[in-house]
Amino acid sequence: MSPATLRRLALHPDCAGARDALLASAEASATLAGRRSVLGMLSLSVTHPPSVGRRREVFDAAGAKGLGSLARSEGEPAALDPMANAAYDATGTTYDFYASVLRRDSIDGLGMRIETTVNSGFAPDNAMWSGSRLLLGERTPKGPFVRCFATALDVVAHEITHGVLQYAVPGGGLSHEGQAGALAESWCDVLGCVVLQWHRQEVATAAEWAIGGGLLDPGFGAALRSLAAPGTAWIGDDQPSDMSGYVNGGDPHTNSGIPNHAFYLAATALGGRSWEKAAPIWYRALALLTPRATFAEAAQATVDAATLLYGAGSLEVEVVTEAWQRVKVL
Ligand SMILES: [Zn+2]
Repeated sequence: MSPATLRRLALHPDCAGARDALLASAEASATLAGRRSVLGMLSLSVTHPPSVGRRREVFDAAGAKGLGSLARSEGEPAALDPMANAAYDATGTTYDFYASVLRRDSIDGLGMRIETTVNSGFAPDNAMWSGSRLLLGERTPKGPFVRCFATALDVVAHEITHGVLQYAVPGGGLSHEGQAGALAESWCDVLGCVVLQWHRQEVATAAEWAIGGGLLDPGFGAALRSLAAPGTAWIGDDQPSDMSGYVNGGDPHTNSGIPNHAFYLAATALGGRSWEKAAPIWYRALALLTPRATFAEAAQATVDAATLLYGAGSLEVEVVTEAWQRVKVL
């Protein structure tokens, strides 16, 4: 059966008891077609055996454009460079979140080693996912930042989630362009925020709902992005919060404000803690996306994921649908 057929079957009400297995089969078929690993989705089951465990390696590039030299690997005592230790801790917390909350064993779902380069000359005053490793740059003395990105757990979790998307979205991840690119940025912001809330054990209604809070000099703003009020995080923030502000041809980091706000609305309306219901729904939706997904398709994927997890007609399905209606996507 094609992945699409399996997914349709999984969503059919008569198949309620077999939903998990059908969804896993859909993911497996899609994954085999894309020659990628399958255990990421299969391991969603709470009865799955424990994960392989953390496998981190942190390299220090000392400001150069290279991979750097090994500063600290798994289980070793603290390195001399505080940024290497900050990255070690943040990647460990992100690993723990994925393993214990979403039952995903690392980036590829198979226990992949998480490699980070700190003080990377590729990313001064920045953080990025290279396609295979996390790059965290130095803070430049005259720049707008007061802290290195390595110290921001939500930013580190955002970048690692770019890696997760490569394996969790059938077909090799979301495109970097258009609405799919904005969806990728949004899913990374959403999970980045949730990892931080989980680490702080915050309830959704009391959380900061920002990415990169405290990184900027306060004269520039409080954070890089706000999921609660897109467009208000810093002085150059141009994020819209609903489709009436959608920027045609806009940067993915701009239009991501719209799906970001949908998640904020859904998570706060569901109440409790964002990693209990909202994040599993959004994470589950990844397997229902395609590389060129639109906002409307992503919205439908979260509604379908809520249906898979909580059943048709459930309060959760209603809340997720309404969140996307409020940002004018559905
Ligand atoms: Zn990003």
